[in-house]
Amino acid sequence: MFETIEAQALKETASNELREEFLQREFERLKPFSLLIYVVSVFMWLLFDLIVSFLGGQGFTWRSMAFLAGFALLTVVLGFTRRASHFDVLTLLLVLGLTVGVRMIVDGLAPASHSLWLVLAAASMLYSVSVLPLRRWAFFAVQVVIWVILNPFLATTTEITELRGVLTACYSVFLCALTVYTFLKFREAKLNNYLMSRLLLDQAYNDPLTQIPNRRSFMTHAGQRLLASPRERDHYLMMIDIDNFKKVNDTYGHDIGDEVLIRVAADIKTVMIAFDYARMGGEEFAIYLAGVRREDVESLATQLCQSVREQPTQHPVTISIGITRVAEGDSLNQALIKADAALYESKHTGKDRFTFHQ
Ligand code: GH3
Ligand code: MG
Ligand code: MG
Repeated sequence: MFETIEAQALKETASNELREEFLQREFERLKPFSLLIYVVSVFMWLLFDLIVSFLGGQGFTWRSMAFLAGFALLTVVLGFTRRASHFDVLTLLLVLGLTVGVRMIVDGLAPASHSLWLVLAAASMLYSVSVLPLRRWAFFAVQVVIWVILNPFLATTTEITELRGVLTACYSVFLCALTVYTFLKFREAKLNNYLMSRLLLDQAYNDPLTQIPNRRSFMTHAGQRLLASPRERDHYLMMIDIDNFKKVNDTYGHDIGDEVLIRVAADIKTVMIAFDYARMGGEEFAIYLAGVRREDVESLATQLCQSVREQPTQHPVTISIGITRVAEGDSLNQALIKADAALYESKHTGKDRFTFHQ
């Protein structure tokens, strides 16, 4: 049963937007790893270049220096890259440079060993690239670049019809298929994991009826804001309760009650968009206002009461609000108790109003 639910959930959530979000998050998470792959690849290229230059007696030329400078530049640029799409282009450029660089190193070796070294280089590069957070187009473009420039039959003495050539061709095809398959499979598994955990977090922290954050989300976010120091201006906490809500349910039914809850939540969202708001349970809502003055809080509370009261609807309701200033050192629970006491005051002095905790 779990598999069916998972498959259904994945089908509903796998939008293009979420895929993009996944690729961006994946790049951000794997950026240090990608930098490591860049540095190690360039280092290995340099090591082989030095070996061929000095042991091979070819000398370390200005061309080696130019390649090295180019690779170093791309690695530095990666350090400043923020977007996954830029990483795709950067990696394609690095692979282009490295493959040409490898070709030049291999050209300095004995002709009989060319194709072998080219396939070894292609294997190493394909493996490295298949674990990078690339988009599909970039991965396939890199495959093409590698197989075109490091083609073991291009400008080598190996013929595809001879034994060495057949072995080389078989191994190359296997390598290509293996890296493509693992890249696609791992990408799909990672995407599914990302979508599932996002869905679960979404359900754990959002209220399904009103589509605004729930109590758990509020306790986390407001709890973090409360600890922020030093504070610019004051912090306030509002508790909101719909007036005579039982009567709405009793008179018009539960569905209309739900509609009213959704409407009030939407009003809260509109007026309090800059702050942390949530449905705490039943017909109670809370708002944490960080960095505000008392006049701002009064004006926002007035605006919210008015906006709920004056909704053009067949089932009008009003709300009562309790407000407390959150002193430094207060816990969130202490503040909630104070705001609740102030809410109680509003309820007992006529409703459809706000009261500050004394
Ligand atoms: P008061 O003005 O003193 O707040 O009176 P009230 O009638 O609003 O009283 P109270 O706050 O105790 O009422 C809460 C009601 O909210 C009781 C419960 O049936 C209803 N309720 C809680 N959750 C939901 C929900 O998800 N949907 C609907 N339709 N009603 C709900
Ligand atoms: Mg209530
Ligand atoms: Mg109520």
